[in-house]
Amino acid sequence: MHRTHYVSEAKKMVGQRVALAGWVHEVRDLGKLKFVQLRDWTGIMQITAKAGREPKEVLDAMSQPKETVISAEGLVQESKIAEAGVELIPSKFTVLNSITKKVPFEVTGKVPADLDVRLDFRYVDLRTAGASAVFKIRSEIAQAFREKCRMLGAVELHPPTIVEAATEGGADLFRVQYFEKEAFLVQSPQLYKQLAVIGGMDKVYMTVPVFRAEKHNTLTHLNEALQMDLEMGFADHRDAVDALEAVVLHILKRVAKNCEEELKTLGRELHAPSSIPRHTYTELVEKLNEAGVAFGWGEDFSRETEEKLAQILGYSTYFITEWPTRVRAFYSMPDESNPEVCHAYDLNYEGLEISSGAQRVHKPDLLVRQLEAKNLNPSDFEFYINAFRVGAPPHAGWSIGLDRMTMKVCGLRNIREAVLFPRDRTRLRP
Ligand code: ATP
Ligand code: MG
Repeated sequence: MHRTHYVSEAKKMVGQRVALAGWVHEVRDLGKLKFVQLRDWTGIMQITAKAGREPKEVLDAMSQPKETVISAEGLVQESKIAEAGVELIPSKFTVLNSITKKVPFEVTGKVPADLDVRLDFRYVDLRTAGASAVFKIRSEIAQAFREKCRMLGAVELHPPTIVEAATEGGADLFRVQYFEKEAFLVQSPQLYKQLAVIGGMDKVYMTVPVFRAEKHNTLTHLNEALQMDLEMGFADHRDAVDALEAVVLHILKRVAKNCEEELKTLGRELHAPSSIPRHTYTELVEKLNEAGVAFGWGEDFSRETEEKLAQILGYSTYFITEWPTRVRAFYSMPDESNPEVCHAYDLNYEGLEISSGAQRVHKPDLLVRQLEAKNLNPSDFEFYINAFRVGAPPHAGWSIGLDRMTMKVCGLRNIREAVLFPRDRTRLRP
């Protein structure tokens, strides 16, 4: 091992010997005094060497360009000048790998880099405090999702990624050559999680990549996204919204508690409310109309109307329930007394849709009628519909977009910043 401790641990170890390893963040050479800021992913430690006090070979070795990979051993002592209040007095300083190419941008953040350049050199970008904070928070969100699903008694499943037919009935599919046949990358694990519940797996969850060949270029869409899904048997839309609320609040609480440092780095204050208000679609349309916004019942909300809604409501995190049937997917359960409306819901978090779901249609004849109403051919969905003919319980579920949730929790402007190697219309590398 090249290190005995991380920087964050060493900072609390005044008077003890440690070995640290990381990158040269900054160097300062005052002739008789040399400073190197050693950075690992937990923080920065100043290494201070004085001519005559530390061995000459240590002082010589400390003259390295920024981003050189180093390790240093020595004593941690209190310091009046170092920012952290402690510094390392080195007895050994080793170069583990030198720089042989110009580092494309400043890791210190002193000179802001363009997002495209940052993504081209993500392996350098991740060394910045901001980017690494985003991915630690993303990890916490994914972990907290799993944790809460397990607490709710759900079992994690792994559906396929290559499929024979469209799951959402849309045209926005990526084609792949599957031996002699044509196949597609999955748009959503929707049908598969339903099949698991029909199979008697009463509560299931999954974290899966989905692929959508949509040609848009927005700040909130990617062509490969990660979804966190839950599906529950013998459940209706109310049960599923309750579960979604519980999971999202658990995630926010976990991030607020476990990512204090990272949130501070990003300048974020996270509010973990104790509940999330619920509004029906119709209620929100009425509110818009009352406020003088021309919006017809049956339309989908645009970014602009969502902003208007947040102004009217005074908050931007809320559920929208009971949508018009015609704007939702065919598998959304229509209301029995008013089939124009279905038991579907979205969660808007800080003004952005981060989750969608519905109570599903579990009656095969209704499913056929719904497919036909959407101009889809029921025979293309035969394997799916057949599953509903052999004992399908009522069920409901939802999907949270991990990328969008990370984006909003971190207060990022562009979804690409929340994804390690984002895939959009033009970006396929690295
Ligand atoms: P939108 O209407 O915003 O395009 P959608 O309604 O088509 O999204 P769903 O099918 O409901 O998306 O997917 C569930 C969740 O997955 C969304 O709420 C969102 O958080 C996320 N998601 C969907 N599509 C994308 C995408 N192209 N890029 C990033 N995240 C996405
Ligand atoms: Mg949606």
